[in-house]
Amino acid sequence: MDTTVIDHPLVAHKLTVLRDEQTDSPTFRRLTEELVTLLAYEATREVRVTPVTVTTPVSPAHGVRLALPKPLVVPILRAGLGMLEGMVRLVPTAEVGFVGMVRDEETLQASTYAERLPEDLSGRQCYVLDPMLATGGTLAAAVRFLVDRGADHITCICLLAAPEGIERLSALLDDLKVPCNLVLAGVDDRLNEKGYIVPGLGDAGDRLYGVV
Ligand code: URA
Repeated sequence: MDTTVIDHPLVAHKLTVLRDEQTDSPTFRRLTEELVTLLAYEATREVRVTPVTVTTPVSPAHGVRLALPKPLVVPILRAGLGMLEGMVRLVPTAEVGFVGMVRDEETLQASTYAERLPEDLSGRQCYVLDPMLATGGTLAAAVRFLVDRGADHITCICLLAAPEGIERLSALLDDLKVPCNLVLAGVDDRLNEKGYIVPGLGDAGDRLYGVV
């Protein structure tokens, strides 16, 4: 798995405000979107394009357009939903599918409780959105789900990761037959005994949408 941590002062600044427990939900949502747009710029570096020629007022010009089939953006419910707007702002023609995954707080195992995705993802590049890469179980399960349906290129976009999560995700996807990239705004110190990233930013879903 190819992992990129975006090293940019604007990303670091926004991430710091996001972490602050004094940051309220509306600001947290806005900053999450802004951060994802910045990450998406790097995350889409390998997005497929096809050559086209357009006519400027002066002459023909050779360029590119996003290739078909369209890229598929897949936020993992619930917290990944907070990243969607920031992603589609940069790639407005992308299609969007949804996967709902829940983590058993005792065993930390992930299971799928909902999905709305095309049956056939052959030839699709997929961008999986999940703000927190903690144990890696949820993200690995989502990636497998997409590859089992035919997706042939996966990029995971997360705000924060624990080193343990990156290692476990890599191990769980070791036998994956398609390229899988990971793009992050930061890597933190560790996971605590409850599976939270330290120092992290707390429960991303709760901070985006309030505690339910
Ligand atoms: N999920 C979160 O929302 N926060 C963490 O720290 C870990 C998993």
